[in-house]
Amino acid sequence: MVDSEKLMARLRRGGYTLLHDSADTSAKIVVINTCGFIAEAKEESVNTILEFAEAKRRGDIEKLFVFGCLAERYKDDLRKEIEEVDEFFGVSSFDDILTAVGVPCVQAPAGERLLTTAGHYAYLKISEGCSRRCSYCAIPLIRGKHVSTPVEALVSEARLLAGKGVKELMVVAQDTTSYGVDIYGKRRLAALLNALSEVDGVEWIRLHYAYPAQFPDDVIDALRSNGKLCKYLDIPLQHVSDAVLKNMRRGVNRRQTCELIDKLRSRAPGVALRTTLLVGHPGEDEAAFAELMDFVREVRFERLGVFTYSEEEGTYGAKHFKDALGQEEKQRRAGAVMKLQADISASLNSEKVGKTFKVMIDRKEGSRYAGRTEFDSPEVDGEVLVASDRPLSVGRFCSVKITSADEFDLYGNAEEN
Ligand code: SF4
Repeated sequence: MVDSEKLMARLRRGGYTLLHDSADTSAKIVVINTCGFIAEAKEESVNTILEFAEAKRRGDIEKLFVFGCLAERYKDDLRKEIEEVDEFFGVSSFDDILTAVGVPCVQAPAGERLLTTAGHYAYLKISEGCSRRCSYCAIPLIRGKHVSTPVEALVSEARLLAGKGVKELMVVAQDTTSYGVDIYGKRRLAALLNALSEVDGVEWIRLHYAYPAQFPDDVIDALRSNGKLCKYLDIPLQHVSDAVLKNMRRGVNRRQTCELIDKLRSRAPGVALRTTLLVGHPGEDEAAFAELMDFVREVRFERLGVFTYSEEEGTYGAKHFKDALGQEEKQRRAGAVMKLQADISASLNSEKVGKTFKVMIDRKEGSRYAGRTEFDSPEVDGEVLVASDRPLSVGRFCSVKITSADEFDLYGNAEEN
């Protein structure tokens, strides 16, 4: 999304009118940014390309370009298979894309983006690539080694965003925990978060994709003491069984994982933990899966998502393991985790009834408003559906008393300011 927004800013400077919504059929040139992470994401990317290849065949669009991770990895195959595409580009070929659409060498000021989010929140990508080598993951093969963006550049980008009305920054990268190692010789994530929190207008900062190994203690301190840092941490753990974690090459074991969770919850009380798990990885036998279920039951993550393993070309997993488990069994395991999590989530949500929270109003929805507490990120987490006697402003905070809850969302009434 951040890459798309940066490219869109340059295209706009080149004189183009940009439409982000693919349902809007008035576009003449279509540029598709693709994902190549796992089978499901690749399928979605290919389906989108095919949809617009069909539009080009019908004469509805004039040009079709594709870039991003899928194109980076498979452009030779895709070129042969989908002839309607005028050109495929890699992940960082913005200059070439501009040339192809007829606006060569148009630069935008560093960090300029055309936001596709609601306007009051935006993603801030703090580094590119990944130097870890998780067995199942093709991202390092596509995006290369971890390269951090300097603190000053990110603070400037945050200022630009805040100047446009952004109040909430979602800090993202393939591996946010390693921020700074490549350019400063040490982890500087906490220093970066503290610097971002000094930017006028930024009120919430939300940390995503924190790798659990070598998790910096000063980030836990920042989560406790920095009032602008949401009490929220997205920390993809993938698994808990030592044998599976070893096969996954995660560089962390069960004991270290549990110690980290304990430390986070004791030193940053109230922090909402979001994690992502991967089921069906080679080596995940019934006992390892049962261990994962017990772990989910015990830890009671506030938020949780599950992926199923898919063998990705060129990865360590594809070279060294047999992908023996059928898709049906993988789906069964993913479904079992999600069912368990739904019960946990419903129970945690019910504990919020009767309490009052600060809520960011994201949009109007029928007669109500949809918003989020600091414990929820847009798109992936739950929402608060707010009833109000007075009009509420999108992009502003309001106090909401929670009156009921289900497994996903909270419901409440806006309080007087
Ligand atoms: S940390 Fe592991 S899963 Fe995440 S991008 Fe890097 S290699 Fe992939």
